[in-house]
Amino acid sequence: MAESDLVGELDAFLEGHGPELIEFRRDLHAHPEVGYSEHRTTRRIALRLEAAGLRPGVLPKGTGLIADIGGSQDDAPAVALRADIDALPIADEKNVPYRSLNAGACHACGHDVHTSILLGTGLFLARAAAAGALPGKVRLIFQPAEEVPGGALDVLAAGGISSVERIFALHCDPRLDVGKIGTRIGPITAACDKVKVQLSGPGGHTARPHLTADLVYALGKVITELPAGLSRRIDPRSGLSLVWGRVSAGSAPNAIPDSGVVEGTVRCLDDDAWHAAPDLLKTMVESVASAYGVTPALTYERSVPPVVNEAVSTTMVAAAADRVLGAESLVAAPQSLGGEDFAWYLESIPGSLFRLGTRTPGAVQEFDIHQPSFDVDERCIDVGVRVMAATALTAIGGQHGSSSLVAEVDAPATTQQDGRIAQNGRYGQVAAGGTSADGMSLTGPLLGSCPSDP
Ligand SMILES: [Zn+2]
Ligand SMILES: [Zn+2]
Repeated sequence: MAESDLVGELDAFLEGHGPELIEFRRDLHAHPEVGYSEHRTTRRIALRLEAAGLRPGVLPKGTGLIADIGGSQDDAPAVALRADIDALPIADEKNVPYRSLNAGACHACGHDVHTSILLGTGLFLARAAAAGALPGKVRLIFQPAEEVPGGALDVLAAGGISSVERIFALHCDPRLDVGKIGTRIGPITAACDKVKVQLSGPGGHTARPHLTADLVYALGKVITELPAGLSRRIDPRSGLSLVWGRVSAGSAPNAIPDSGVVEGTVRCLDDDAWHAAPDLLKTMVESVASAYGVTPALTYERSVPPVVNEAVSTTMVAAAADRVLGAESLVAAPQSLGGEDFAWYLESIPGSLFRLGTRTPGAVQEFDIHQPSFDVDERCIDVGVRVMAATALTAIGGQHGSSSLVAEVDAPATTQQDGRIAQNGRYGQVAAGGTSADGMSLTGPLLGSCPSDP
């Protein structure tokens, strides 16, 4: 398959397989399964991949699977393509033939679409490999439990990307017309963590605060000083904000209580700031508490970091879309305040997540993801397969030197993100939470509190 044949090969493949992929998506849509219960979904994917001669392996927890295409037995996969396969625990309120048959579960984030696109991409690449036209190995990752979130951590724990050099994913975007591809270098989603500060002291009479520790006053200082301090210690461009949502202390107007608590969220658009926030908060909490003689305990629950798209990978996506759809398909994607656990992969290896337009041009009805009525223009499946397949071929070429299938990919000039990545050495580290000493616990991922809607 020569480079010039790629579009023709995709045309021929999708003419034969396009209807099957739409049927596959509708079947998943009618049978949605929430995080870690995607057993039927996993079986359906595995059966179809096996029918194409692939040998998928199910992840240790029993849902989600990985399959390699091309290369020799000993080759490390150069490139991974990831789709999330789980549904949301909400009711499907659409009136369509493929409406959810599982009460209280719905593919309202488009993961059924992502799954069908990755399946189609896998079938296309398997055909290319059989014809000797795949110059490397591609890994398909069908990841469970993105919405929980945390399925990405299971893939990492299973060694799913231990030898992978670059990874790609897409996400449905109902604000983009079908046929459009949104890319962005640098952060494309945000982080959302949960913070809890507990103060304790001896308690006492409000007549004599100097003989005890004035806990409510100290709690008030924590409430005002932490957001203020962060705004002066973290780069204002990071979009980091700490906002309190709950405060509680005391039971009588004339008694200083012996404990109090305040809870809130830290949202953040920047990876550096996200990494720095827990330690800074710990320092500030300790400083305020010691000034007023109370004992602090900080609990910082991690959710996902921001998805930070690496520049060269993002350029590969854009080059691939340009090849198979034309330059007019490309738009600049804005950064979203939603979260996506694809970020965990990008803490370890370079890659890029791009947006796939799913809106029917000129449509009156506006959809958003995570809405019970969410649906897509199914022509996006065809578009997604084209861009994913071309991206994989472009990236393999990038890893393996010249290839007749490889489009020209010019690495952009060094960007701020690149510089920061180099300083951080962010590839190779996986910051999946943990516990720090001295009264602060750091946990994650945060379950459920921050809906993952990139
Ligand atoms: Zn999603
Ligand atoms: Zn979602």
